[in-house]
Amino acid sequence: VAQIDLALEREELVILYQPKVDLRDGTIVGAEALLRWRLPGYGDIPPSQFIPLAEENNLILDIGEWVLNRVCGDYRKWQRQVANPGRVSINLSLRQLRQATFITRFRSVFTKHEVSPTCFELEITETTLMADTKRTVKLLDELYAMGLHLSIDDFGTGYSSLSALQQFPIGTLKIDQSFVRNAAVDANDATIVKTIIDMGRSLNMEVVAEGVESEHQLGFLRSHRCNFGQGRLFGDAMTADELLTLLTEQRTGQKRLEKLFA
Ligand code: C2E
Ligand code: MG
Ligand code: MG
Repeated sequence: VAQIDLALEREELVILYQPKVDLRDGTIVGAEALLRWRLPGYGDIPPSQFIPLAEENNLILDIGEWVLNRVCGDYRKWQRQVANPGRVSINLSLRQLRQATFITRFRSVFTKHEVSPTCFELEITETTLMADTKRTVKLLDELYAMGLHLSIDDFGTGYSSLSALQQFPIGTLKIDQSFVRNAAVDANDATIVKTIIDMGRSLNMEVVAEGVESEHQLGFLRSHRCNFGQGRLFGDAMTADELLTLLTEQRTGQKRLEKLFA
């Protein structure tokens, strides 16, 4: 895996999109951009296996900017076909957020592609968020002022101070899939999921459940009025063209997921 520094040059990185659906009716309301390293002869390498390396040698900064460029380019293409492709979220790493020129760089990418930052969401993990709260509050306020939507990824796995949480302009909590997995069968996980949903509601935040795989889990989440969901039940990460097909179908009244929501 030593060739990560060449992955960018060799154009071996790809972005796939996982649809995010409204749990009331199954409407696709957006997607999450997920990075893959398509190494010839090996297949797709998941981000967990190369992002930590890329973070060590700061390559994540170039990769992160490449991701944003690719996502903005794809978004622009979708916009020509469907009026509103929804909101697309991008995962950020701590290194990116720490970069002094981060805001300027991101802003110029949106400008270059002529897309509005309001079409995008940045996902930040709890650990990243709490790393240097004072500085992070300022940074997130600036991003929010640009029109970006901000969310906390893998919520429940880290240590969020609730008082700090309230200082951030966070719009969405994403419940980690480890809790969603057994929520319908394990009382403890059920309590955690319910608590996060209630907390999101009282803080006026949207709540997204990650890793929804079964109808059983879907039923549980709907009965507790969780707003949105992502997972294999609705669709795995797919190419930009595949997502466009789903969005186009939806626009013409076809709803693939309708059965699940009857
Ligand atoms: P994440 O942001 O929490 O992404 C959700 C992960 O859950 C993704 O793994 C996704 O493929 C997987 N997943 C989706 N549905 C299901 C399901 O129904 N069941 C199960 N078991 N898993 C499901 P993936 O793509 O391997 O990404 C792993 C992590 O890598 C992401 O976690 C994110 O933290 C990071 N990552 C991905 N893309 C980027 C990127 O462009 N930049 C940065 N900095 N990190 C990224
Ligand atoms: Mg994420
Ligand atoms: Mg997550």
